[in-house]
Amino acid sequence: MTTAPLIILKPRKEESVLRFHPWVFSGAISRIVLSKSYPYDAPQEGEIVQVANADGKVLAVGHWQIGSIAVRILAFGVETLPATFWHDRIQATWQLRQSLGLIRSDNNTFRLVHGEGDFLPGLVVDVYRDTAVMQAHSIGMHIQRMEIAKAIIDCVPIVKRVYYKSDDTLPFKAPIEGEKTGYLIGNAPSEFVWATENGLQFRIDWLNGQKTGFFVDQRDNRALLEHYAKDHDVLNMFCYTGGFSVYALRGGAKSVTSVDVSAKAIELVKENVAQNFTNATNHTAVAADAFDFLNAEDKKYDLIVLDPPAFAKHRDAIQNALRGYRRLNAKGIEKIKPGGILFTFSCSQAIDKEMFRLAVFSAAAQVGRKVRILHQVHQPADHPINIYHPEGEYLKGLVLSIE
Ligand code: SAH
Repeated sequence: MTTAPLIILKPRKEESVLRFHPWVFSGAISRIVLSKSYPYDAPQEGEIVQVANADGKVLAVGHWQIGSIAVRILAFGVETLPATFWHDRIQATWQLRQSLGLIRSDNNTFRLVHGEGDFLPGLVVDVYRDTAVMQAHSIGMHIQRMEIAKAIIDCVPIVKRVYYKSDDTLPFKAPIEGEKTGYLIGNAPSEFVWATENGLQFRIDWLNGQKTGFFVDQRDNRALLEHYAKDHDVLNMFCYTGGFSVYALRGGAKSVTSVDVSAKAIELVKENVAQNFTNATNHTAVAADAFDFLNAEDKKYDLIVLDPPAFAKHRDAIQNALRGYRRLNAKGIEKIKPGGILFTFSCSQAIDKEMFRLAVFSAAAQVGRKVRILHQVHQPADHPINIYHPEGEYLKGLVLSIE
C-alpha cells in the first residue's frame, strides 16, 4: 500500500497545528517526503496527506491543496483517517443541530455542516426539509463527495436526497474530475420544495438560486426583526427571496417593500409572500439596484434592513468595501423616520466587527443623526466559529435606533 505523502513542517511551525488551527500554510513546510512506490513527483491536489513536525512525528491528517493554504486539516492526533471518519463527523454535526433545537415541526431549514466551524474545512451543507445541498470549497471534499453524501443519508434521517452544487465554489487551480453539480443521492423532487423556518414557508430553488438556495444564516436576525415590525413601514434592501420581508409581515408591519437587483429573486419573494399570507396587499417587490432605488426614493421608513452581498471578497478589497458600507449605511440612515430602526449587516469575512462598526459610525456621523446600538448580532449557532479559526466569524450586524 502506498503511504500518504508526508508534509514536514519547519521547526516551530507545528505550533499552530498543536493549537488545532485547521490550515497549514505553504510557507510553513520544509519538505515533502513521498514513499518509493508513490506514482507522482508531488502530492496531488485533494489527496489525503500527513502533517509532521520537524522531527517527523505525525500530528495531523488533511487534504492537500495547491496555493497558500497547503493543507486543510481533517483530524488531529492521528496518522490515518479512521474508516468511520465521515460518518462520525456528520453524526456529530447532526447531534449538535438537534441539541440546538433546530429540528422541529415548524423548522426544517438549517446548516448541517459549516466548514472549519464543524472541523470539516472546505465543506458546507444546508438542509431544506428532506434535501441536503452540499458545496465543496476544496478538491479534497470534491473527491470525497460520495462518501460524505452517504454519511449524510445514514446519519440524518430526515434527508432523502443530496444535491451537489460546487461549480462556483471549487478552486480552479487544478483540473477537476467528475461532475461539479447534480444529485449524488436521490432524484429531483417532482414539485418545488417548500422549507419551513420558524413556521414560515420558503420555496428553495437550489438549482438556480444563490449559494445553496437560501440564506440560512439570517434566521435568528429575521426572528428579531419580527418583534420590531408591528405597525411599521419596512424597507428590506437586498431582500433575495424575502426572508426578512415575510417575518416583517407576520410581525404585523403596516407595509413592506422588498428590493433586490435580481429579477429571479423578486419572483421568489412574491411567491414566498403569497404562500404565507393569502392577501398581503401591503407588500411591494421591486427589482432594482439598491443605490438607484435609494437615490430615487423620497419616502422615509420606520425600519430598514441593509443586507448586501460581501463587499470585500479578499483582504486587498477592504478599503473599498469600508467606503461601500459607509455610503450604503449613510443612505439607509437618511431614510429612517425619527425613532426608527436600522438592521445593517456585513457578511464580508475580511471585514471584522470593529471595522464594520467604524464604517457605520462614519455613516452616522456623516448624516448627523443620533444613533444608538440596540443589538450586536451575528451568525447563528448552526454556523459555529472554531475558536482556533476566528476567520470563520463572517456575519455581523448592528440593530440601531435612529433619532
Ligand atoms: N437578506 C437576504 C440575503 C441577501 S444576499 C435574505 O435574508 O435572504 C444579497 C442580495 O443582494 C442578493 O440577493 C443579490 O441579488 C442582491 N444584490 C447584489 N447587488 C445588488 C445591488 N446592487 N442592488 C440590489 N441588490 C443587490
